[in-house]
Amino acid sequence: MKFGTKTIHAGIEPDPSTGAIMTPIFQTSTYVQASPGDHKGFEYARSQNPTRAVLQKSIAALENGNHGLAFSSGMAAVDAVIKLLSPGDEVIAANDLYGGTYRLFTKIYAKFGLKFHFVDMSNISNIESYINDNTKLVWLETPTNPMMSIIDVVGAADITKKHKLLLAVDNTFATPYLQQPLDLGADIVMHSVTKYLGGHSDVVMGALIVNDDRLSKDLAFIQNSSGATPGPQDSFLVLRGIKTLHLRVQRHCDNGKIIANYLKDHYKVEKVYWPGFENHPNHEIAKEQMRDFGGMISFTLKGDSKEEAFRVMEKFKLFSLAESLGGVESMVNHPATMTHASIPYGDRQKIGLLDSLIRLSVGIEDVDDLLDDLKQALN
Ligand SMILES: *Cc1c(COP(=O)(O)O)cnc(C)c1O
Repeated sequence: MKFGTKTIHAGIEPDPSTGAIMTPIFQTSTYVQASPGDHKGFEYARSQNPTRAVLQKSIAALENGNHGLAFSSGMAAVDAVIKLLSPGDEVIAANDLYGGTYRLFTKIYAKFGLKFHFVDMSNISNIESYINDNTKLVWLETPTNPMMSIIDVVGAADITKKHKLLLAVDNTFATPYLQQPLDLGADIVMHSVTKYLGGHSDVVMGALIVNDDRLSKDLAFIQNSSGATPGPQDSFLVLRGIKTLHLRVQRHCDNGKIIANYLKDHYKVEKVYWPGFENHPNHEIAKEQMRDFGGMISFTLKGDSKEEAFRVMEKFKLFSLAESLGGVESMVNHPATMTHASIPYGDRQKIGLLDSLIRLSVGIEDVDDLLDDLKQALN
């Protein structure tokens, strides 16, 4: 089945009791048993829910994985992966990470005796010098947030396989339409479903997708034991969102390309970060591992003034000033004060996350209107 057919059909069958073509919202907390232990595969809704079960199959199919697990947020999905580890274990993580992931690692899990190394993975060979006997997991995102660096997933997988480590890839920015990390050698794919998979800015959810049966069992045990599972209404909304994933993401890419090129030539703009540019440091890897370059774009202003960045952002009329990304509507964000405020100033400067950096999540509106909005906000 090709991708644009999977989004609509994979894992989904008409409801056996009624023939309903859309998966029903099974709004129930428990299931009646005929005799103790004699049930239809559903015991209690934290453990199993039919709406969520269909969604998990759909998400697994999109990532070419054998098993999908849904969580009540992206962070709950990251949290479940880290709970595979034990005190003393070490994690090598990319140094340009979603702020909440960085916060979970450094502020919650470091105090339970886990050690995290944050490494520039735009050159994949940097990983190897941090590996020791305690290393268990490599964690990365690509494209990275908000600097739009590209990390070579095949290269990372070569290293993790050689050293018998797990490789987890946060695929939120790329979506499985653009990139399928399991096929590139990753062991775990993570999503903030809140973003492109849901796609309509109306749900908070996370997901993990794996191929290995053992790993899937361990993660499902954590999912049920810790209990951060999504409800049936949200599962339904995401099943609905996924049906147009391929159309939406292609339009995000098409609009993103036009806007990245407009910004590149603007006299007030210092630098544009977008992997589609031929002079992007890892453009060749992006071309190899991605179908297209996405609708996420960051840029800095000449003079690097935070006040000027704020002025521009307040003037947008169509781009909504908001945290989050990946919805149908265009959004603008100031990483240094919003999504990445929990990263210390010095660490932000090191990765180029300057005070004038503005991040755009280009939506699927008519691109002429988006260009008009950018023009009036910048000029
Ligand atoms: C939003 C986001 C997360 C966290 O997901 P939530 O659904 O907000 O908990 C993790 N990684 C990336 C790349 C994100 O954009």
